[in-house]
Amino acid sequence: MFLSPTGSYGMRSWVSNAFGAPRNHPGPGRGHAGVDLTAPVGHQLRNIQDGTVKRIYHSPYGGGWVSEVSHGDVPVLGRDVVSRHMHCKEGSFVVEGGDDVFEGDILCTQGATGNALDDHDHFEIRVSGQPVDPWPLLADFQYSSHGLEVGTLYPYWSIGPMARLCQSFLQYRGYDIAVDGVYGPGSQGAVKDFQRDQGLIVDAIVGPMTWDALIPNLG
Ligand SMILES: [Zn+2]
Repeated sequence: MFLSPTGSYGMRSWVSNAFGAPRNHPGPGRGHAGVDLTAPVGHQLRNIQDGTVKRIYHSPYGGGWVSEVSHGDVPVLGRDVVSRHMHCKEGSFVVEGGDDVFEGDILCTQGATGNALDDHDHFEIRVSGQPVDPWPLLADFQYSSHGLEVGTLYPYWSIGPMARLCQSFLQYRGYDIAVDGVYGPGSQGAVKDFQRDQGLIVDAIVGPMTWDALIPNLG
């Protein structure tokens, strides 16, 4: 459930500031307590696992508007697991404290509130109050059942944050695609159109070449 043996490509593609990195914004604590996931403003931010909304609040430490969801005790990971999206768009929340939420539910949209220097979701997972690196957890939420190499989207049933990121960037670039986190036939068609336009191999596999074309400013 924790670290994946591969996947550095996915990390450099879409984590703009890694967990534990020197802080790029002021606030308490020593290192970066989450990962910064590049996403355009307006991108839908979703809940990573079933839980209950703990609170929606404005951080006094630069996090801007924050959604905080409690997932309770998670096997292997630990007790009292909480996830947070920061820099959310003010007024975009479609949930409130006390709401039960399911994996994949939309919570709000990406904003740039607080001390956000660019468009990103500062995403945290805390276990009993201690921040842990969300990246390998997110990666494995998506890929553990398939055993695929992290960082590559393959053209069959695949659900999760990597699919949503791919979809959101294609939509941002004007392709007709739903941002629903499911890498189904519609998404694959849009990826093929994009690959064709870019002169890439048209196979609907979102690997290093396609990620580079999709997110050229990273990595
Ligand atoms: Zn951050």
